[in-house]
Amino acid sequence: MSSTTIKSTEEIVSCSDNGQHPLVYINLKNGSGQCQYCGQKFIRISQTESSKKAA
Ligand SMILES: [Zn+2]
Repeated sequence: MSSTTIKSTEEIVSCSDNGQHPLVYINLKNGSGQCQYCGQKFIRISQTESSKKAA
């Protein structure tokens, strides 16, 4: 139901849709991801460029 894209600085985010589905982890190494259960979209943002490996 949610159309909000969640931004995270983590490579791995978790989603359970407030307990509506089993807890799953979504890998954002490619920059974005989507929960296979509820369709929640996540994007990865880089907060600290200095600590990030050069792509
Ligand atoms: Zn979900």
